[in-house]
Amino acid sequence: MKRGKFAPVLIFALLLSGCSAFGFEEPTALGTPAGAKSTGDFEPVLSSSFDEPWSTDVTRQEMIETALFKLFADLDQIKDSNCQVKPVLYLGEPLLEEHHPLLEQIAFGMVSSFCDYLSEDIPVVAGSYEFLKQVMASEGLEGDEFGGNCGFDLVQDWASACAVYGVAWTGISLGTVRDGVSFVEERRLTIAAHELFHIVHDQINPQADPGTGSCLTYGCAGPVWFYEGAGEFFGRAMTQYLGLQNYATFVPTDRNGLYLDGDYLSDLDFLTPRRNKAGGVENYYSGQIAMEYMLANNGLIAVLAIWERMDEGVPFPAAFESEMGISLEDFYSKFKVLHSRLYDEAGYCNEGLGCEEWIKSDQTQDWYSGQNSQDNPDPSLDNERLLSNECLSVSAIWWAQCTELELGIPESPENSDHGYPLDYNMIAKIESCDEMELIGFDLRGWAVTFEARELSGASQANVSTQYYAALRYLDTNQDGVLCSPQVPD
Ligand SMILES: [Zn+2]
Repeated sequence: MKRGKFAPVLIFALLLSGCSAFGFEEPTALGTPAGAKSTGDFEPVLSSSFDEPWSTDVTRQEMIETALFKLFADLDQIKDSNCQVKPVLYLGEPLLEEHHPLLEQIAFGMVSSFCDYLSEDIPVVAGSYEFLKQVMASEGLEGDEFGGNCGFDLVQDWASACAVYGVAWTGISLGTVRDGVSFVEERRLTIAAHELFHIVHDQINPQADPGTGSCLTYGCAGPVWFYEGAGEFFGRAMTQYLGLQNYATFVPTDRNGLYLDGDYLSDLDFLTPRRNKAGGVENYYSGQIAMEYMLANNGLIAVLAIWERMDEGVPFPAAFESEMGISLEDFYSKFKVLHSRLYDEAGYCNEGLGCEEWIKSDQTQDWYSGQNSQDNPDPSLDNERLLSNECLSVSAIWWAQCTELELGIPESPENSDHGYPLDYNMIAKIESCDEMELIGFDLRGWAVTFEARELSGASQANVSTQYYAALRYLDTNQDGVLCSPQVPD
């Protein structure tokens, strides 16, 4: 995408008038912008339903309102308006001038709210992905091999945002101007806060930053529902705390627009390897509700302490149990009961749009240790498939060093222009080629190198050394290509 040379004039750190370079003050509150309505009408109200810990006999409204009550009370205690850590804003097209103050308010509000947990200034970039790359280059910020911060070569689609390498990028403009009045689409405000929250937890537990951190497993980063659920919950709750708009809820659908089976969405353990019936959004949806449940029970400080424990080297399940006062397993069963009921009562599957029935696979893994779970009917299977946690945690070139030597997977990875994320823990470890849709739509196989693709004749396969390495057990004839309909194994 060609963008001329607007960058040098538009790249700037916003200095607010009257502030010294070091003591940034918060912008004055703006009030709710036009168009920033939300589906919810939630107030921070404590419900007695949570007097009994982890009660499943609560309504969604009671849960959200209690979570907001405890969050806001905790934030009022820890908030620091004179925070020494600052957001550094870079604002480019297509973010509208009219919305600059909104982004400032979100960025400064987030930083002062979580000041106690922050140690480094946060670059906040709003605009196109090209603009982000220009900012990263001109500021000398560390980024991915493509010069961005998403970890793959994103083609701008105006609906993306990434928070990696300590940089929060929101590619989503905050809204439009209609008849001279700025309108904001509510989702966009929450996305800016969502990305900023990722920077907050990455500063608490830096090993889990997918760009600069060393962590490659759920044990040290937490599962996807946990960190993306946090992004969703705090993204929405913080816009309410900052006086911009009310907390909002959403319900995912699959790519046909159908609602999803409630049992599937209620199974956080199963959702852990980035399950993909709704394009991956199910971890965001279920994770948001799981966060509401955690906050309503234990408040903010205990939830943030989970990242602190992981930073000390405690694996996620133990960190969760020590701060939440319930084992991860028991939490998963409580959540299943609670969410199944709430989803049933809401009646999504009874409506015309329906729900396709979901039947759980009986092969699940112990995602946090990389070991098979004890009740697995065939323990040898998963041990052979998953790469060892010990190796993943020490090797930056896991595809070459953690896989079987005889496969000869090269150290320099090769990738065609497929756009899928390359971290080991982002790749769904599918059980057969029939499940390729869990990774993406209409995939025609993966080849380990361009040469292997050429030699095998699987011309429609994507090339990815990382995908091949993660899924190598599916290449039963070891021709360097797996799941190609053109050259089946
Ligand atoms: Zn996120």
